[in-house]
Amino acid sequence: APVIVAIDGPAGTGKSSTSRAVAARLGLRYLDTGAQYRAAAWWMLGNGVDVRDPAAVAAAAEKPQIVSGTDPAAPTVTVDGADAAGPIRTREVTAAVSAVSAVPEVRARITALQRSIAAESVKNGGIVVEGRDIGTTVLPDADVKIFLTASEEVRAARRSGELKGKDASDLAATQASIARRDAADAGRKVSPLAKAADAIEVDTTELTLEQVIQCVVTLVEE
Ligand code: C5P
Repeated sequence: APVIVAIDGPAGTGKSSTSRAVAARLGLRYLDTGAQYRAAAWWMLGNGVDVRDPAAVAAAAEKPQIVSGTDPAAPTVTVDGADAAGPIRTREVTAAVSAVSAVPEVRARITALQRSIAAESVKNGGIVVEGRDIGTTVLPDADVKIFLTASEEVRAARRSGELKGKDASDLAATQASIARRDAADAGRKVSPLAKAADAIEVDTTELTLEQVIQCVVTLVEE
């Protein structure tokens, strides 16, 4: 039977690495919903939309054509046909994405896209979908729901390890940036970052990536 797995949690908990690896090992499709919101934010920044103006963002919400490739070995995201994988990881996009993702019109559009990708995946065995509101809002009937957490220190260290040219001040800046983004994501009115009542919480603070992957694989196979 196809299996739908929802993996949520704040920034820097290893969601993407874990979700991709779990999907690859279990032969499932993979969707990074953060990449979709980042793609929307990148489009807004590139098309002169003031991301601090929710009305302007709402008016443009239907414009970018965001397409996600769901092969866990090579996930892709394009906007209006252009490869967005690199540009969506810049500081500018990271700083803008929470404001863009808080706009209800943007969430409605991207949530619909996510549900259609999940429905389509059933033909291919199912999917691992990672984000902030997958278990609560996007796919409340998911077969397995995981909520990943980690201490703030560990999350900042993992994230700055992914960035180049790191030093002590970078670590502090990264911790502040993650804390700001989590506060915005958890505090927005529409489908905030939250643990579903029936999600299994996995604290990854003391675990290696391989241990987290194993843990989630076991939970899905049970
Ligand atoms: O996962 P990632 O850190 O790339 O997500 C980027 C941003 O996209 C989050 O900070 C949040 O604002 C938004 N997001 C969201 N809902 C999701 C996934 C991501 O609002 N399901």
